[in-house]
Amino acid sequence: MKNIALLGSTGSIGTQTLEVVRANPEKFNIEVLAAGSSVEHIRRQIAEFNPSTVVISDADAAKMLNDEFTTTKVLAGTDALKESVTTSDIVVNAIVGFAGLPVTLAALNEGKILALANKESLIAGGPIVQKARRTMESSIIPVDSEHSALHQCLHGYTSSYDQPSQSIRRLILTASGGPFRGFTSDRLHNVSLEEALEHPTWNMGPKITIDSSTLMNKGLEIIEAHELFGIPYEQIEVVVHPQSIVHSMVEFVDSSVIAQLSMPDMRLPITYALNYPARSQADWGAIKWDQITKLEFEQPDFDNFLCLKLAYQAGETGETAPAWLNAANEIAVAAFLNHQIKWIDIPHLIAQTLDQFDNRKAEEEDDIYRADKQARRITKQIIESKPNG
Ligand code: NAD
Ligand code: MG
Repeated sequence: MKNIALLGSTGSIGTQTLEVVRANPEKFNIEVLAAGSSVEHIRRQIAEFNPSTVVISDADAAKMLNDEFTTTKVLAGTDALKESVTTSDIVVNAIVGFAGLPVTLAALNEGKILALANKESLIAGGPIVQKARRTMESSIIPVDSEHSALHQCLHGYTSSYDQPSQSIRRLILTASGGPFRGFTSDRLHNVSLEEALEHPTWNMGPKITIDSSTLMNKGLEIIEAHELFGIPYEQIEVVVHPQSIVHSMVEFVDSSVIAQLSMPDMRLPITYALNYPARSQADWGAIKWDQITKLEFEQPDFDNFLCLKLAYQAGETGETAPAWLNAANEIAVAAFLNHQIKWIDIPHLIAQTLDQFDNRKAEEEDDIYRADKQARRITKQIIESKPNG
């Protein structure tokens, strides 16, 4: 029986992780749950899974739930979140955004297996997360479908941040292309929030859905792949694959390409991460070969989807630049979700923020928090200074 700490349990990845746990009660026990503000949702989860610890953002709501459930300790705050990962075997980080960084660092510093969906923590905190990875017997098993695919394709070829495999020529990340694939620049100027929230192949939380529409999600995933596997940026490529069946590929130096395929279903990479290195019986994502008529591949549109370029640049710059990129993106996406800016403003806001990048190194954890805070402030200032902002 593996004890699981699931942080971000009320979200898209969180609820799908609970589906996997529910289907395997003999294998997995939910020891810890954590979420932001969805009190009613977490109440139902406590009643079903009876975890020993729960952490939520709101202190008053935590107190109320703590009085309600006698066998569950309900706490609030970042310290409680960090403390909550210390007892479980596996930590699933399914929090959205930079708020996941303390969990990623705490899990690695405690030598846990970290099933990582929260890509933002690895991207923004890269240099510090790498230090934490080195100090303990910890490991990261990616939950993001592309990186789970790469992890599977790399089986037998150890590639770590410090020692990238010499056998690899390229990592090829696939991208669905999002809802605006093939759109002209004119058309992109007037896309609506509703259109951006309509992802063609995946049903996900709002932030990553918008990131998929701008291709920033793929940009973040390029940095995520670099951080996970240590492969230089010039050896990480993106290919658009609208069917989302090939989840990513590794090309080896002898030109052989290994790919991982399934129907788009996050419960498969979640199952893989929870069971690794073993494999477990499951039907999530099983391919219906009679329903697949074609697998298409095309080049991404770098001219109209500027976020891809911005991500490569921030990744190459390294240090605190990815934290700036991530922070500016989080603010821009939140402003778009709040109807404050247009979709087309998102990449420009990020570029304008990065123009003010101060080139600070990322030597300590605080450098990351400072970079995040500063970039957020600058992006907000730019939004507020716009006539329609
Ligand atoms: P979501 O918005 O559906 O859920 C986010 C969860 O995080 C919720 O439970 C929310 O309560 C919790 N949360 C937010 N702020 C918090 C805080 N400060 N403290 C504690 N909990 C907090 O998001 P999602 O789509 O499930 O995505 C989660 C992460 O997984 C993201 O980093 C995303 O990029 C990544 N991811 C998601 C998918 C997907 O299919 N949804 C696929 C690949 C990667
Ligand atoms: Mg992905």
